[in-house]
Amino acid sequence: MLGAIIGDIVGSRFEFENVATPGFKLFSPDCSYTDDTICTIAIADAAMNHREYKDALVDWCSRYLDPMGGYGGRFLKWLQSADHLPQASYGNGSAMRVSPIGWLYDDFHQMQDEAMKTALPSHCHREGIRGAQCVATLIYWLRTVRITKDEVIGTVKQTFGYDIPDLKEVYRLGNEGHFDATCQETVPAAISCFLDSNNFEDAIRTAILAQGDTDTKGAICGSIAEAYYEIPEEMITKAYEYLPADMLEIVDQFYTTLQGHIKR
Ligand SMILES: [Mg+2]
Repeated sequence: MLGAIIGDIVGSRFEFENVATPGFKLFSPDCSYTDDTICTIAIADAAMNHREYKDALVDWCSRYLDPMGGYGGRFLKWLQSADHLPQASYGNGSAMRVSPIGWLYDDFHQMQDEAMKTALPSHCHREGIRGAQCVATLIYWLRTVRITKDEVIGTVKQTFGYDIPDLKEVYRLGNEGHFDATCQETVPAAISCFLDSNNFEDAIRTAILAQGDTDTKGAICGSIAEAYYEIPEEMITKAYEYLPADMLEIVDQFYTTLQGHIKR
C-alpha cells in the first residue's frame, strides 16, 4: 500500500500543471497525497476493520473532501449523493485504490472476490472491476508465487485480456498530451512501466515520466513494484511526512497485520 501512496505523492505535482523531466525531484513542497491515497486508506481500513467498502470510502473521502487535484467529477457526485447507489464507472479509480487487497488475503479466490467488491460501490462497470482485480492479482502473484517479469505479459493477457503496450507507445501518448483516465488504459500502461523498471524508485520515475494521469499511474505502478522490490527506507520516511495522523494509523495497522502473515 505504501507503494501506491508514494507513487501518488510523487506524481501529484505533475498531474495538471508541471511536466516531469528526467531526474526530477521525488519529494518537493508542491507534493501532496491525493484521492489515490485517501481511497487506498479507505480500502485498507474496510478490509482490516470489517467495514463495508462503500462506508469506508464515503467516510474517508468526506473527511478529506478537497484534496490536491480533487476527485473525478462522477466520483464526487457519487460521494455527495444521499444514497451512494452503485455507479458503473470504468475510471482508473478502482485500480488505484485496490492494492491492500493483494496483500491482505492469502486465498486466491477470496482475494479476487474482495478486489471485485472494492470496485462495486463506485466502479461496477466490468472494466472497473477488471482493473481492480488485475492490479490486486498481479500484486498477489508477485508476492506469493513470485512470477517473473517475463511471465507477467502472458499471464495478464491470459487471465484479464489486457495487452500490455510497449513503453515507447505509452510515452508517445503521454508526450502528445493524451490524458489516460480509464482502467483499460491506465492499468496496462502502469504494468508496462513496472516491467521496464530496475528498482522501486525507477518504477515510480518511469510511471511519472509517462505523463498523463501521473499520480494514478504512479500509484498503480508503485503498488505493483512494492510486491517485487524493496522500497528504500528514505522514501518511506519522506512519504510519512505528508500523511495526516489518521491515515498513518491505518498504514501502521496494515504493516503490523502483514508481519507474520506475509513472507517477503
Ligand atoms: Mg489523484
